[in-house]
Amino acid sequence: MELARSLVGSSPAALTVEGLSWGPSHRAPIVRDLSFVVAPGEMLALVGPNGAGKSSLLRCLYRYHRPTAGTVRLDGVDLWSLPPRATARRIATVLQEPASDFGLSVAEIIELGLTPHQHDGSPHGYASVEAALELLGLAPLAARDFASLSGGEKQRVMLARALVQKPDLLILDEPTNHLDIRHQLEVLALLAALPTTIIVSLHDLALASAHADRVLVIADGRQAALGPPLEILTPAAIRETFAVETAIDSHPATGRPRFSFHLEPRR
Ligand code: ADP
Ligand code: MG
Repeated sequence: MELARSLVGSSPAALTVEGLSWGPSHRAPIVRDLSFVVAPGEMLALVGPNGAGKSSLLRCLYRYHRPTAGTVRLDGVDLWSLPPRATARRIATVLQEPASDFGLSVAEIIELGLTPHQHDGSPHGYASVEAALELLGLAPLAARDFASLSGGEKQRVMLARALVQKPDLLILDEPTNHLDIRHQLEVLALLAALPTTIIVSLHDLALASAHADRVLVIADGRQAALGPPLEILTPAAIRETFAVETAIDSHPATGRPRFSFHLEPRR
């Protein structure tokens, strides 16, 4: 994990969200009146049904959507008072849309993560590209054409690129949706070990509860619950948000909570 630590920024960011709403103009807001704080080094998991507003919220947090109300502050400074380059130096993202960088190799795509730091005299360079390739098991793919990779391989490349950026805040939108089981577990364990601040949307409640410090539940654009996973992800709360029944027991091998879901039996 030394390798992992060498890849993130040295000053994990605090994020303060206050009264945040966002929506396209002439429409009802899609995220509504959210307020929460993410502490430096904390890992916050964002969960909620399809269409709840998770991606929209994340876009506000990495300065893509300008809030229609409220603020998002990075170490106390409003994101929209900072030049875009200043946020690019501190915030890295792993998004769902596949990259549109055609004709580049895996190593070249990862190298793009160095761009925000190119003119600030920071010493790290290609060594961190090699470290990221190693860390994500991508070394054998380094010379491959990025476009030829599987969805899961691409997802790991995008994570490697984000790490090379040495972020103080790492924002990931469903980073495990294309990964096989082993890579899901590895990526979550890697994220949990990084000393940087992380906000990650996840569909898998067991992954969220095993690795996140806290969970934020978004339902219909609103903040339904926020707190430590086991306090928040109760069968009653999961029924309310996801309309499924849940049995939670303890995994016989790891002792971690195990979630099993079913639909309400038909009467
Ligand atoms: P989630 O990531 O939780 O699945 P999203 O944030 O992607 O949810 O979307 C929430 C809702 O807002 C969806 O109904 C989606 O269609 C709508 N939406 C998202 N972005 C826009 C936009 N730019 N214009 C109009 N509707 C949008
Ligand atoms: Mg989404």
